[in-house]
Amino acid sequence: MSIQTIGVIGAGQMGNGIAHVFAQSGFNVIMQDLSADFLAKGLATIGKNLQRGVDKGKLTPEEKDAVLARIRSTISLEDFKDVDLVVEAATEKWEIKKQLFETLDTVCKPGVILASNTSSISITKLAAVTRRPEAIIGMHFMNPVPVMQLIEVIRGLATSDATYLAVMELSTRLGKTPLACNDSPGFISNRVLLPMINEAIFALHEGVAGVESIDGIMKLGMNHPMGPLTLADFIGLDTCLFILNVLHEGLGDPKYRPCPLLKKLVDAGWHGKKSGRGFYDYSGEKPVPAL
Ligand code: NAD
Repeated sequence: MSIQTIGVIGAGQMGNGIAHVFAQSGFNVIMQDLSADFLAKGLATIGKNLQRGVDKGKLTPEEKDAVLARIRSTISLEDFKDVDLVVEAATEKWEIKKQLFETLDTVCKPGVILASNTSSISITKLAAVTRRPEAIIGMHFMNPVPVMQLIEVIRGLATSDATYLAVMELSTRLGKTPLACNDSPGFISNRVLLPMINEAIFALHEGVAGVESIDGIMKLGMNHPMGPLTLADFIGLDTCLFILNVLHEGLGDPKYRPCPLLKKLVDAGWHGKKSGRGFYDYSGEKPVPAL
């Protein structure tokens, strides 16, 4: 089946980026979220990011308009009945994704690939709630999606070679580099990244150093483009906590125990950049440490 129209679930920071890159590569996109407000916010972000490209001379205003014209938004999953592939990028919660995959399996045509952008939920487990486990796969984009090169492609136990090859080819058509791994808690990217972020939070919690020192030491000392606490704020602290819980439960090793300070910030609603506050306060012109 030739893939022309993509259904994207979620207009949040990942969903709108995914819609953006598909539309910019010539695909038609239907972006779905729970409310018109979420969709309007997602579309505004896509417009803003495309405008940045126009300002830098990377695309013309006409090209920007053409990309936006390829994105339709909806609050109804029924509108996915004719899509050729779905990328799900809703909130990182098992109950939400389980329900979405059950519904997608009913709504989408037989054979349509259902990909999840999950950071940590088992692709094998998601596949098992559908009647098409061979067509379920992980397509893990990195944040910010229009900028980052990698797509981590995750094969569940039942994912077919045809599904895997189609997604590898599709990722290349987006101008991205797909790299494959098998289904296991946190896959490769988050299994390696999140323990580092968690350790940085423990160091802060124990008073070993302040927010700016921890970030500065890792940035300058390890040549990382940003410090671990800044990166956690970018990912979303709720998402970080969820992934650590998946690693902790899935691998059964206490070394993945989430830091109590991370739990506290999430309980307070300090979810990082997207909520305006996390390890940094984003309300001013420049982020300043919030702790
Ligand atoms: P986000 O909170 O910015 O956006 C999630 C969106 O999903 C929200 O707009 C919400 O309204 C919507 N949503 C929730 N339930 C829904 C439902 N039932 N139907 C439709 N939409 C629904 O979160 P995000 O950072 O964009 O994360 C989305 C997914 O991408 C998660 O699975 C996350 O683990 C994964 N991910 C995140 C990052 C990152 O750096 N933030 C990186 C890679 C992957």
